[in-house]
Amino acid sequence: MEQLNFIMGLLIPGPLCPGKDFDVFLEPHIEELLDLWKVVPTLDALTNKSFDLHAAVIWCILDYPALSTLSGRVTRGYYVCVRCDKDPCSRRIRNKICYIGHRRFLPRDHPWRKKKWFDGKDEEHDKPEDFSSDELKKQLERVMDVRLGMHPQNKKRKRGENGQCWKLRSSLWDLPYWSSLKLRHNLDVMHIEKNICEYIVSTFLGIAGKTKDTINGRLDLEDMGIRKNLHLKRDGNSYSVPHAPYVLNKTQKLAFCEFFRSVKFLDGYVATCIIVDGCNLQGLKTHHCHILLQRILPAAIRGILHKDIYEAISELGNFFQKLCAKTLKIDVLHRMKDEIPIILCKLERIFPPPFFDVMLHLAVHLPDEAILRGPVQYG
Ligand SMILES: [Zn+2]
Repeated sequence: MEQLNFIMGLLIPGPLCPGKDFDVFLEPHIEELLDLWKVVPTLDALTNKSFDLHAAVIWCILDYPALSTLSGRVTRGYYVCVRCDKDPCSRRIRNKICYIGHRRFLPRDHPWRKKKWFDGKDEEHDKPEDFSSDELKKQLERVMDVRLGMHPQNKKRKRGENGQCWKLRSSLWDLPYWSSLKLRHNLDVMHIEKNICEYIVSTFLGIAGKTKDTINGRLDLEDMGIRKNLHLKRDGNSYSVPHAPYVLNKTQKLAFCEFFRSVKFLDGYVATCIIVDGCNLQGLKTHHCHILLQRILPAAIRGILHKDIYEAISELGNFFQKLCAKTLKIDVLHRMKDEIPIILCKLERIFPPPFFDVMLHLAVHLPDEAILRGPVQYG
C-alpha cells in the first residue's frame, strides 16, 4: 500500500447537520465500499493490462462531534471517552461530569497512588478496560432496532444505561473487515490541542464565562477535602474567593503580554488583543493553538507562574510537539504512553476538577493511536 494509492472521501455536513440520521446518507456509500472490497476488474492505463482491484476503508478522520455522528458511539455523559469502554474515569462533580483520576493509568506500585493530594483518597482502580469482541457484539445487538429519523416507534433511550456505550449500529459495521480494524476512528489531535489550549489560557487569564476556575470548582475542592488554601472564605452571608496560583495577577498579566509582543506571535500586538486584552478567544484559530500550546505558552509563563505549573504545562507542550513530529519512533511513543498519565496527574494537582473536560483525558489515548496509525498527519 503506497500513499499514492490512498483516496480520501470527504464529507462536510452543512449547518443543518442531520445528526445520527447521517447514517442514511452513508448507506449508498457503504454499498460501493462493499463492491470495492469484493473484486473490481480494473485497467492499468500504464501497462494496458487488467487486474483485480480490492479497496478498503482504513480509518475515518473526524473531530469529536462528528465521531459521535458517524460511529454511533456515545460521546456524552459518563461514557464520553470513546476509548474507555468499561469503568471510565468520569466523575460527577458539582454541576457537571469531569474526567479525573489519571493515577489509574500509573503502575500499581507508583507512590502517587497513595497520595491524598489528588482527590483525598488512595487510588485502587486499574485503568479503564476495552470491550472484548463478544461484549462489543452484545452492545451493538442492543441497538440493532434503533431506527433512523423521526420514527414513531423510536423510544427515547437513557444515555449510558447499564454501561451501554453505543446508541446506534452504524452501517460501517456491514463492512466485513470493520470489526477487525484496530483503529476505526481517529481522534483529532488539532481539535484536542485547540480545546486544551483554550482551557489553559482562559483559566490563566480568568476570562469570565470561559475560565475553569469557577465557584463550583472551589466547592468541588471542598467536597474532596483538598487544597484548603483555595476553599471559599465565608464571612456571614458573604464569601471571598482566595487567589489561585494558576490565575495571573495584574503584574503577571503585564509580563505575559510583554512576552507575546517580544516573540511577535500572531503579530505580537494582535496576540495581546486577542489573548490578553480582548478577553475572548474568538480570533484564536486551531493552528494558532497548535503553536501556542506546544511552544509559546510554556515559554510565556516561565518565571511568571510557579515552577510546578510551568513544568506541567511545558511537559504537556512537549508531549504534543513529539506526537506531531513528521516521523515517529515506536520506542519514543511507548515512553510517551508512560509519560502522559504523569503529566495529567501533575495537572490534576494544579487545576480544579472542572478543568478536566474529556479533551484533556483523550490525550492519554493519543500515543496508542499513533502506534497503530503512524504520524498524526495521516489521521
Ligand atoms: Zn479514555
